[in-house]
Amino acid sequence: MAEDCLFCKIIQGDIPSDKLYEDDEVLAFRDIAPAAPVHFLVIPKKHISGPSAVAEEDEQLMGKLIRIGNQIAEKEGIEQYRLVFNNGAEAGQTVFHIHMHVLGGRSLNWPPG
Ligand code: 5GP
Ligand code: ZN
Repeated sequence: MAEDCLFCKIIQGDIPSDKLYEDDEVLAFRDIAPAAPVHFLVIPKKHISGPSAVAEEDEQLMGKLIRIGNQIAEKEGIEQYRLVFNNGAEAGQTVFHIHMHVLGGRSLNWPPG
């Protein structure tokens, strides 16, 4: 739990979210401003500021984000999707609590902008 972290507040329940999955380590919820028909975020409950702050002890947790994201994608009816982690403002990171975007339900262009 970090002070003034939006996603820590969502984890605490201080800010409501449309939850898709929750256990003691991981939370998934729909993005408030979806960029695709299916767009949700999978986050660890541990506050990690971003990809560059991932430590060796977090390796298993990071793999779990992908596994849970895959399970939710299947439930949401998307077989094909894109996973995105932004690191740093220039890369598009606006919330400094690590989160994995899962985007699908339409064709996605590459490379991204
Ligand atoms: P970033 O730009 O940091 O990679 O992604 C942050 C994401 O969080 C954005 O896609 C944004 O729409 C989403 N977001 C920001 N504030 C909220 C919120 O209060 N609730 C939810 N569900 N998503 C949010
Ligand atoms: Zn946080």
